[in-house]
Amino acid sequence: MIFLQDHGTMLSFWEQTNFLKYDLIVIGGGIVGLSAAIQYKKKQPKASVLVLERGLFPTGASTKNAGFACFGSLTEILDDLEVLDEGEVLSLVEKRYRGLNAIREVFGDSVLGYQPFGGFELITENELFQLDNMDRVNSILEPIFKKPVFEIFKKDLGFGPKVKTVVKNKFEGELNTGSFLNALWTMCGELGVKILTGANVEKLDLAQKEVLVLSGNNGGRITFKGGKIAICTNAFTKSLFPEMDISPGRGLVFMTETLPFAIPWQGSFHYDKGYVYFRNIDNRLLLGGGRNQDFKAENTTEFGVNPKIKDYLVSIMEDVIFPGYSPKIEMEWSGIMAFGPDKRPILEKVSEDVVLAVRLGGMGVAIGWDTAGALVKLF
Ligand SMILES: Cc1cc2nc3c(=O)[nH]c(=O)nc-3n(C[C@H](O)[C@H](O)[C@H](O)COP(=O)(O)OP(=O)(O)OC[C@H]3O[C@@H](n4cnc5c(N)ncnc54)[C@H](O)[C@@H]3O)c2cc1C
Repeated sequence: MIFLQDHGTMLSFWEQTNFLKYDLIVIGGGIVGLSAAIQYKKKQPKASVLVLERGLFPTGASTKNAGFACFGSLTEILDDLEVLDEGEVLSLVEKRYRGLNAIREVFGDSVLGYQPFGGFELITENELFQLDNMDRVNSILEPIFKKPVFEIFKKDLGFGPKVKTVVKNKFEGELNTGSFLNALWTMCGELGVKILTGANVEKLDLAQKEVLVLSGNNGGRITFKGGKIAICTNAFTKSLFPEMDISPGRGLVFMTETLPFAIPWQGSFHYDKGYVYFRNIDNRLLLGGGRNQDFKAENTTEFGVNPKIKDYLVSIMEDVIFPGYSPKIEMEWSGIMAFGPDKRPILEKVSEDVVLAVRLGGMGVAIGWDTAGALVKLF
């Protein structure tokens, strides 16, 4: 029996002998970490699996996002085609769409709160030329969807005069982000995965596979030991691996009061090349994004509200979404994403029995589960 150092926390004999050693330790309890724990435990039912999460809830992007079950709007895909070839774009979209179908199959639409209302992109005057490329994008995506993905949506949805037309994507949907995380938590519980929250991993000893945790309980430090370690800390990975090529990107979201009139649309709405997104939740507007208005300030792992970005989103709400009407904002929050030079996550074996899946970008709802599956295969 190895007694691990307890750094003054005065762990009891019972704690030391029962709580500190696991076959797999997962660091980070967001979509990727929880999905990795589940998929590993399904493959190795007898293995002991621990998830260490520094927040009381997962505290990165997974509980803060907009819940779009999306795979790229028309202008986002056209942007991608500027830097990637058609085959690469097809495989990016395919991965996202397959990921969404995988979570729908594993958890079920009603558990996820999945609603197939479609995706809509608002096209402004200077984006109209992009419509000339709609047929090209549809034919690139034909091998996956067999039908045209993008089409002009004719109905007037009451948007402001800046919106010249709306493009519909019938294959997109939306889900309830909290329900998705709850489903992951529930499945972890059913499988016997242990989750400790308030457990901030400060240091890793890769050779010994020891994980030093600052305990939220009494400010002491506890060392856990894993047979294997999976690192799923997304935007916060640099605190453990400073050399990683990861740029954090903060995203702002706000939600209005319940509106006194019925919002005449439902679905996942994209604006400004996907940098702005909004949806109707129980007749309230959820609106988020705008990082492109201040990339420099949003390159941070600190949660917070950038007034410049908030003003930009408010102006879109008042001029574009509900022209001439200004609903009260009732809630606002931010979440932290992770970006890099391209849109692929970093998925790698760091050392023997230590693997890492981070940098999920703005599509982790779509690709998180599958990325975790690929991570588990690295062991
Ligand atoms: C505002 C916003 C809107 C978004 N909208 C969408 C969308 O509509 N559709 C979509 O597909 N994606 C969207 N995303 C992206 C998506 O949410 C992320 O890609 C996904 O949640 C990433 O999951 P993750 O598990 O890798 O990271 P995270 O959810 O960030 O999880 C990492 C976890 O690790 C924990 N952690 C970090 N460091 C440590 C440590 N040292 N010790 C212990 N724990 C640690 C953190 O607390 C965190 O809970 C959005 C993101 C944001 C912020």
